[in-house]
Amino acid sequence: MVAGRVLLDGGAPLLPHMHRLGVDPGAINVVFITHFHGDHTLGLPPFVLHRVFVDRRPITFVGPSGLEEYLEKLWEVSWGADWKRVMRPQFKVRYLTAKPKGTVSGLRYETVKLDHGTMGSNGYRIHIGGKVVAYSGDTEPTAPLDKLVDGADVAIVEATGPGEASSRYAFLLQPRVFRHHGRRGQRPAGDRGLRPSSTAPSLVGAVAGGVAGALVFVALAGLGGLLSSRVGNPIPVIVLAVAGAYGGWLLGVIVFGAVRGGGEGEGPK
Ligand SMILES: [Zn+2]
Repeated sequence: MVAGRVLLDGGAPLLPHMHRLGVDPGAINVVFITHFHGDHTLGLPPFVLHRVFVDRRPITFVGPSGLEEYLEKLWEVSWGADWKRVMRPQFKVRYLTAKPKGTVSGLRYETVKLDHGTMGSNGYRIHIGGKVVAYSGDTEPTAPLDKLVDGADVAIVEATGPGEASSRYAFLLQPRVFRHHGRRGQRPAGDRGLRPSSTAPSLVGAVAGGVAGALVFVALAGLGGLLSSRVGNPIPVIVLAVAGAYGGWLLGVIVFGAVRGGGEGEGPK
């Protein structure tokens, strides 16, 4: 949500989060829809219920072509016969197909067609309070995303493609996406540079972890050897060698994780 009156997509559960954050759902007067996937639209039926029964201020939806047909179908599926009979007559709505450049409720916006599945996705550059807010919805780190975020004051992007679907990865990718788009034009969009790969921190981490683990093993096995020669039986060397192997492995993993994790987590430059 931007400036208390612009909603960017409507994933579930929209209305409870608005109430939790102390946001007035009735103050929203424009909703930009990027595409018709459920995680971007299924929070809207309860939001519309509020608009029909609690706060009847008019509202405008902007989105890809087919917007009115899709949303009206969604309202009807959600509320059944009551939609047309009771609710629709109270709903002051406008549906606008997004233009390449347009104005809605006094806000200038530009639409950038982004790559996403078979339907694609509309990215929006919204001019508000003298700033440009770029919002991608779902897409991949491909060329149109560069165009969307170019010179924007705030960029809200989702840019993980197939194979990078886990949210943990999306979070780790954020500094890379930021660095990539912060150095406009120096690298073609969508190149391997954005993909997680075996990088220098991984290699350094593996070497450091291996050395630390080996030191622990050698130290404990050596101590075992010393004790065994003193007491004249091999049990201490066996016990301490096993303990050394386990301790060495554990320390190796910890050192590897610390070195590699520190590298991955470094801030944007
Ligand atoms: Zn999607």
